[in-house]
Amino acid sequence: MQKKNLDWEHLGFGYTPTDYRWQAEFEDGAWVREGLVTDPQLHLTEAACVFHYSQSCFEGLKAYTTKDGHIVTFRPDMNAERMINTCRRLEMPEYPKEKFVNAVIETVRANAAWVPPFGTGASLYIRPVMIGSGPQIGVAPAPSYTFRIFVMPVGSYFKGGIKPLKLRVSDYDRAAPHGTGHIKAGLNYAMSLYPTMEAHREGFAENLYLDPATRTYVEETGGANVIFVDKDNNLIVPKSDSILPSITRRSLIYVGEHYLGLKVIERRVALEEIRDFKEAALCGTAAVLAPVGEIHTKAGVIALPSGMEKIGEISAKLRETLTGIQACEIEAPEGWIRKIC
Ligand SMILES: *Cc1c(COP(=O)(O)O)cnc(C)c1O
Repeated sequence: MQKKNLDWEHLGFGYTPTDYRWQAEFEDGAWVREGLVTDPQLHLTEAACVFHYSQSCFEGLKAYTTKDGHIVTFRPDMNAERMINTCRRLEMPEYPKEKFVNAVIETVRANAAWVPPFGTGASLYIRPVMIGSGPQIGVAPAPSYTFRIFVMPVGSYFKGGIKPLKLRVSDYDRAAPHGTGHIKAGLNYAMSLYPTMEAHREGFAENLYLDPATRTYVEETGGANVIFVDKDNNLIVPKSDSILPSITRRSLIYVGEHYLGLKVIERRVALEEIRDFKEAALCGTAAVLAPVGEIHTKAGVIALPSGMEKIGEISAKLRETLTGIQACEIEAPEGWIRKIC
């Protein structure tokens, strides 16, 4: 297979249409017309539910080339399960787990020429998405749905080394108690765009959101979970029903416990406690783990002892171990690596 002629080392994180995408449509209670298609466009009615009532959800995962030249993906079954949970909450039809994993594999295999070679730091980003595509004007779920998986090569999140991020505590809220914070719905992003752009304009990488009920406890950022290391080298993981269950975060917890021998404590974490912590980091598919150096709050700046120059020691170990597992350089727990070809 001839790889595409791309400048793999300098790819950004953006949309590039590739050769094939997976499509399935849900009509009259069944998934129909399932398979690979070449047209990147969707043809939709102006009355599609997604345009009016935001019936949409998505997932994100990656495929990459390992040292020995295989193409693999990481825990696609977890994305399948999370999308099912999301669909239930949005009155959308579930795309079954086996179908989802198969569709990921078929789509990546068909676009193998677009999977960045080993050692470039780049990967193939996989974006499953579902929308209510049928016409709906009265407020109700759509009568029909479109599911797609498309892929694109993306560059390494950190160009020129891993630099700690500066966050601010947001005056806006991300997710209400008993709301939709725990599902991967487009609606959670629509309302975060304004606070995110405002944070960028003020020189911050991201907003750190607090629990809206008491504005005391840490939730997460707009698109990544947050974890901490305390003075005793315990991994402290914020717990809340409105945090999106990040697959990276759940994998890092396992790596911390079983590979690094860390004690992992999942509990509510008050903003003020961060002053006593050693390290903070964001986690998600895009960056795996991104260190946080400063958090700006109403009551002043919290400067993590690991500083703004380099990643903290425990964060570095967590990151190296998980990326090593993903690249098949460190033995993975059973079922984490799905070989595609
Ligand atoms: C997708 C997402 C994450 C990260 O989840 P991963 O499965 O690790 O990629 C974190 N927070 C939010 C709000 C997200 O949408």
